[in-house]
Formats: sequence, C-alpha cells, structure tokens
Amino acid sequence: MEKDYFYDPRKRTKITSGSHRAALTDGYRHKGMRRKLVQLLQKKGIEDKRILEAIGTLPRHFFLDKAFEEWAYQDKPFPIAKAQTISQPFTVAYQTALLNIKKGDKILEIGTGSGYQASILSMLGANVYTIERQETLYLSAKKLNKELNIPRIHFYYKDGFDGLQHIAPFDKILVTAGALEKPQNLLQQLAIGGQMVIPIGDDVQVMYRITRISESQFSDEKFDNFRFVPFLEGIEKD
Ligand code: SAH
Repeated sequence: MEKDYFYDPRKRTKITSGSHRAALTDGYRHKGMRRKLVQLLQKKGIEDKRILEAIGTLPRHFFLDKAFEEWAYQDKPFPIAKAQTISQPFTVAYQTALLNIKKGDKILEIGTGSGYQASILSMLGANVYTIERQETLYLSAKKLNKELNIPRIHFYYKDGFDGLQHIAPFDKILVTAGALEKPQNLLQQLAIGGQMVIPIGDDVQVMYRITRISESQFSDEKFDNFRFVPFLEGIEKD
C-alpha cells in the first residue's frame, strides 16, 4: 500500500532541543508505547487506518514538557504551557475522523496549542493554517515544527475568532477549544460544501459538525460529549 504520510522521522534535519523539552529522540520504548496507544484507540472505535498510522508514527512525547514524557502515550489530555492542554489522542483522532481529510485540503485550525493536532493533519496531506492566542504556545509550536521539519503548516499569533479572511475559503475548519456558541465569522470562511468540526457548550461540550450547504444555509450534526479548554477572545502576550 502506498503511503500518504509526509513526516518521516528518519529524514529529520538539524535537531536541537530546548531546555524544557523532552530530548527529540524516539526510541523503541516510545514506538512500543505508541503501538499500544493505537491499539487502544482502535478498541475505542477509531477505524480510519490513515489516522491510526499517523498517530502511530508521530512522536507525541516531542510535544509535551519533559516532566510528562512518561505519560505521553496514555490516552489522556496533558498540561502544556499557559494552563492549556494538548488534546487527548482519542479526541485528536475523533475530530480528525469527522473532518474526512483529503490530500490537499485547506484547513483552518483554531487553537494550535502544542501543534500536535496540526501535525497529524499535515501527515494526512492537508495544508494547515493554525491560529493560537497565547504567544508562548505560538512561538514554541512554530519552533518545534521547524525542528521536526513537518511541512505545510502555517502558524499565526492572532485571535481565532477572526479566522483568516485573506486566506479563506477553507475546505475544513477545526476548532480545538470549547465554544459557547457557533462562531458566525468563522462559518463565513467555510467553502460551500465545506465542514467545521467544533465542540460547543459551557461545562461539557457537544461535538458538532456543521456543513455549509449554500451561501446562507448550514446543516448540523451532533456527536459525543467532550471537555475542552475554553475558546477565549483576544490574544495574550508574555
Ligand atoms: N490543538 C492543540 C490543543 C488545543 S488546546 C494541540 O494539538 O495541542 C486549545 C488551544 O486553543 C489553547 O492553546 C488555547 O490557548 C487556544 N485558544 C483558545 N481560544 C483561542 C482563540 N480565540 N484563538 C486562538 N486560539 C485560542
């Protein structure tokens, strides 16, 4: 079977590691833990082989602070800087599956966080435009991306509520923070036929997939419940 993945750990160039980062080495132990994680995701209902293979390939421990390296392959969300989290692998797989990613899709992600989800999208062949409101996270995700040499990801330090008007329309929009309501501005940046996957709700969020049927018509599908950090207005600087 031909592979569509563009991240090849053997082809990485010029690896340097920041002081708080886990060393960027990926050993047999990590690979073994990733295999187990993939088996667990399969048991939990993730079927898409391309997504499972991407999660099985990308070293998640590179995206966590060093203190949490041992936990990188549990199916749990984890703290990153600025009181934010890297999404649980199941949630990453779930949102990615709802997006039905095709090679060449133009995707807007709101909430770069660690950059892990954006990397998975890139490995599926998408062109990713990702926005983060926390400057620290924006800078570290961008730096790590350069070190790992994962292509087709464009990083923006901005308020995600504005989207990227000059790059729209997008085939897909993925929101990785919990929204209180549908962000109208972002819906307008979807291509006709395009889809947005977004968790909506206060304490607990329902996963929505919203399809733009025409210029003015949208349809909703609702899926399972999740808990995300909040989708907040404005940007934060260090
Ligand atoms: N996708 C991330 C996890 C995201 S956690 C990963 O793979 O690691 C949600 C992120 O959304 C947080 O980093 C938070 O700072 C960011 N966020 C919340 N509101 C935002 C907004 N208005 N614009 C951009 N990013 C936002």
